[in-house]
Amino acid sequence: MVNRQISPLSIMDYIPKKAMVVFAHPDDAEIGAGGSAALWALNGCEITYIQCTDGSNGSNDEKMTSQNITKIRSEEQKEAAKLIGVRNYIHFNYMDGGLIDNKDFLSKMVEVIRKYRPEVIFTHDPFRMDGFQHRDHRITGIIVQDAIYPFSRDHLHFPEQIKKGLKTHKVKSVLYWGADKPNCIIDISDSIETKIESLSKHQSQLPGLSYGSETAKRIRNRSSDSAQKHDFKYGEVFRKLDARV
Ligand SMILES: [Zn+2]
Repeated sequence: MVNRQISPLSIMDYIPKKAMVVFAHPDDAEIGAGGSAALWALNGCEITYIQCTDGSNGSNDEKMTSQNITKIRSEEQKEAAKLIGVRNYIHFNYMDGGLIDNKDFLSKMVEVIRKYRPEVIFTHDPFRMDGFQHRDHRITGIIVQDAIYPFSRDHLHFPEQIKKGLKTHKVKSVLYWGADKPNCIIDISDSIETKIESLSKHQSQLPGLSYGSETAKRIRNRSSDSAQKHDFKYGEVFRKLDARV
């Protein structure tokens, strides 16, 4: 049996009715929370994907144009989302590398939260200190946190949305991936292969990734390291923050 008390990670086995995954670029969602989102979708949770940028700068191939890589990544992301079981897929279409912490981005985020009403949101940890991270990731994480509290919750913020018929909404928790010190783990033993298969759709970013490839092994190893002190094989870890009520 388990040494649950040894692990500092609390196990999240509650599956909400509605969840949202907010990500900066195509493939971030599956890397960060693909196993959890697939597991929850399989168990009847309505998953909404919010893609913030078009991924137009994501190539090391000098012959690749922004226009072409955008098209390729858009198709890849659609295929991946289908495998995860995503119900609603929203695209903000900001330029890759162009995210700004401003009112336009915040307003869009508040609007989708009020419209799709998730209990839980997965996104990038904006406060990671340990290592570089893309500015789009940082800014996405900050915007999500602000949108949850207080902007989606309070009717005097973006009142034009309320006049249009949207209602205020309280998100219960945010689960940040990429955290320096995660405090929560989700058992993805039943969905890790779906995560890997969905990542294999992103061939422009993860070339050669397939069921038996080295990258797939690395993903399994990392997930099994995360689950080390638990009685399940694979886990995804997050920094969980419960929102004010
Ligand atoms: Zn990214």
